[in-house]
Amino acid sequence: MRINKSKSITNWGLYPSIKTNEYIPQSIDEYKEAISSSNKLIARGNGRCYGDASFQNDVISTKKWNKFIDFDRDRGFIEVEAGVLLSDILEASVPAGYFITVTPGTKFITVGGAIASDVHGKNHHVDGCFSEHLVYFDLMIESGEIVRCSRNDNPELFWSTIGGMGLTGVILSARFLLKKIETAYIRNEAIQAKNLDEIFKLFEESESWTYTVAWLDCLQKGDSLGKSIMLRGEHATLDEVSENIKKNPLKIKKKPKLNIPFFFPNFALNPLSIKVFNWLYFNKQLKKHVKNYVDYDQFFYPLDMVHNWNRIYGKNGFIQYQFVIPKNNGLEGMREILKTIADSGNGSFLVVLKLFGESNSKAYNSFPQPGYTLALDFKVNKGLKKLIEKLDEIVERNGGRIYRTKDAMSKPSLTNYLKNVDSTKFESIQNERINRFKKQ
Ligand SMILES: Cc1cc2nc3c(=O)[nH]c(=O)nc-3n(C[C@H](O)[C@H](O)[C@H](O)COP(=O)(O)OP(=O)(O)OC[C@H]3O[C@@H](n4cnc5c(N)ncnc54)[C@H](O)[C@@H]3O)c2cc1C
Repeated sequence: MRINKSKSITNWGLYPSIKTNEYIPQSIDEYKEAISSSNKLIARGNGRCYGDASFQNDVISTKKWNKFIDFDRDRGFIEVEAGVLLSDILEASVPAGYFITVTPGTKFITVGGAIASDVHGKNHHVDGCFSEHLVYFDLMIESGEIVRCSRNDNPELFWSTIGGMGLTGVILSARFLLKKIETAYIRNEAIQAKNLDEIFKLFEESESWTYTVAWLDCLQKGDSLGKSIMLRGEHATLDEVSENIKKNPLKIKKKPKLNIPFFFPNFALNPLSIKVFNWLYFNKQLKKHVKNYVDYDQFFYPLDMVHNWNRIYGKNGFIQYQFVIPKNNGLEGMREILKTIADSGNGSFLVVLKLFGESNSKAYNSFPQPGYTLALDFKVNKGLKKLIEKLDEIVERNGGRIYRTKDAMSKPSLTNYLKNVDSTKFESIQNERINRFKKQ
């Protein structure tokens, strides 16, 4: 089997980094061999989590496991190996009139990673998490045995693996249901909100929309705290789109991709440059309410248009801080958090607000809970740990928690929500860090 010894790896935030032995199995026997020859290891997909979730001294890469097993074009069921990327699925499924029912803000994640984090999208309040549309998956457990898991077959293992962050075994393949679409376009509305009260009201009013999300300017204070733009959308039907699109409704034009060719120097990202960026972003839309049609890439994956955008934060990297707080405390909790960030001057280009709907109580390891969730990037610098401590304290006081797949340095009591993931073989450095706190 190929093993890359002492390979340096990072996840998307480039912080932290670690040297690991990367096992790259070519066959089921090599998967078994990797698992039996290591004392402790964790599965790794495309490294699009942040922090240390897919880190261990030994990791097992699923990226070579990227074959399609079955695609039922009549009913929309797809079965793939766990290393297949969502982008590969879309390339095959959109021309056939199907879309991934729940997708995160990047399409460059594997199916194994989607299940292990039980990812959510802009439609959580309507379609739940990725697992809602999952039929079954095959999991290799400690003994090397392959176990089929579904709601009926091995349901305990099914539910603990969903959102279980790779701590129950290695997902080898999965079958799930796609959503029927008539076009590759989204009917999109962009609405400006002048502050937090306005954007919260907009979320409440937009609950019947399938997709809702807001981008915030986190350096605003006072009456403008929470200044934002809401995007809401629906898959466009054939009747709605222009004659031009109707000719080939399931095809989108390939766009040239931008690339960040090198790490930005440390001074490049500072409160002033973020202020300028935010000013340009939040003022480019002249009207308060704009309606248009955009292709699915523009609507779901705007960040994927810029290759290596994670380099803009420089070599020290960045963390993503994502929390959820219950709806009752939403407005006041969020106000306190945004005020703390604005006062710290530690700005973020990327600030995304969403409203989660009801969660599935059976999927007990999934992160979402009913309430407001905010995700923001912070460049790693000397003051960051102190800021995170302050934010964690507010999240905890408001009954919230932190998303494990983004966690790098939060208070373990906020990420300590996983159950039934007690394997001693499948273990991440992140889980060890969180468990050390549990034992104290
Ligand atoms: C730009 C960007 C936007 C994002 N937006 C969202 C969002 O909107 N919603 C959301 O929910 N998430 C979002 N994420 C997070 C991302 O969807 C998850 O971290 C996802 O799990 C990454 O998948 P991956 O294949 O890269 O897995 P990795 O990052 O390699 O691993 C993530 C976790 O999955 C486990 N894992 C991976 N493969 C397997 C397998 N085969 N078997 C068992 N365990 C496995 C790993 O052990 C690890 O714990 C975003 C990330 C980025 C970079």
